[in-house]
Amino acid sequence: MATSILTENRSCCLLSCILSGMRLKKALILILSLWAGWLFAGTNPMAGGHETRKDTASAVVMYGDSLLIERPSFFPDRGYNAQLDSLLLTDDFDPERVAQLKLIQSVGDLSRAQVASLIDSLFTLSEVPYPLINEINLYITMLENQRARHSIFAAEVPHDSPHPAHSLYGEWNEEIPHPYKLNHTNPDTGFYLKLRDTLWSCDYYHPHSGPVTSRFGWRYGRRHSGIDVDLEVWDPVHAAFAGQVRVARFYGGYGRVVVIRHYNGLETLYAHLHRFKVKAGDFVEAGDVIGLGGSSGRSTGSHLHFEVRFRGEPVNPENLIDFRTQSLVGDTLVLHKTPHWYVGRTTNVTIHRVEKGDYLHKIAQQYGVSIQEICELNAIRRNSTLRVGQRLRISG
Ligand SMILES: [Zn+2]
Repeated sequence: MATSILTENRSCCLLSCILSGMRLKKALILILSLWAGWLFAGTNPMAGGHETRKDTASAVVMYGDSLLIERPSFFPDRGYNAQLDSLLLTDDFDPERVAQLKLIQSVGDLSRAQVASLIDSLFTLSEVPYPLINEINLYITMLENQRARHSIFAAEVPHDSPHPAHSLYGEWNEEIPHPYKLNHTNPDTGFYLKLRDTLWSCDYYHPHSGPVTSRFGWRYGRRHSGIDVDLEVWDPVHAAFAGQVRVARFYGGYGRVVVIRHYNGLETLYAHLHRFKVKAGDFVEAGDVIGLGGSSGRSTGSHLHFEVRFRGEPVNPENLIDFRTQSLVGDTLVLHKTPHWYVGRTTNVTIHRVEKGDYLHKIAQQYGVSIQEICELNAIRRNSTLRVGQRLRISG
């Protein structure tokens, strides 16, 4: 009988309790559809003609637009606990909503087949809970992306543990915002940093939508290593990219400051905060609220001082972020060292998958770039042997 599959595991037992609480009148029909079946194509036979929307960034199948939790962006956050806490504090909380939130939290422990079964069973309810199904799809996709991203970075840079981009720094300091004394002797070295990767949902979230009040660069003979964005005290400040919080403390003129190390090696800094919402060591997703804006430290009025750094040296945030449209300028950041900071420009990088019979000259011609550019982008030589299936970055 189908329910015996569910009771095999503790969290599944919870599921069946919750499902019965959701006025499930008939026995669960378990259709062990393949994971890809429901994740990518929305081919659930029970969905009927319901309109589906496939989000290209993260391949989440959505049945309409509604989710259980309202969020400022499409990015999932760790809001389930907070929602549960606030729901349980009110006297007249909706038990069904609590059950749904608990159900989502338990989904992470299930196998793919079990999640597929769960979703199929939800489609058999007399009132199909589309927001709940969307939320489960979103949550699972987020977990998958997280796991995939960690494994990808681990594969590319084997020494990148226990912290993001550890091999670039070799140091993890939770006390000082800029502890690095790295040797930058080779000014010609360019770094190509991936800013956005739609495959793994590494994306950007604008830290705060206020107007820019002071730009990066020299200011009254002193260098301004970041950009100032106007905000009101208590306004939420968001993580620009996914990563790990390295610093969250009061530090001199910065006041309450958060520094996040990202997987591509960039660090972003958020100063003059009024309150912290994270602590050192926390992992964050792009868009997570990391603190509330304020005027702590050396500040004449409430604003966000936002810095982007690479190996301790500042980068003009406007090299990568368009503050008017609040979006990235390009997919990849190319950095070159100058005496004072890194100068960056963005480029949109295309990936070419090497096929049988490909050679560098042919590929360069195909994309209208030089062989030298391809070699630099991929750290290969002109006479390197290309492997079929190898992925080459092509600067656009
Ligand atoms: Zn500033």
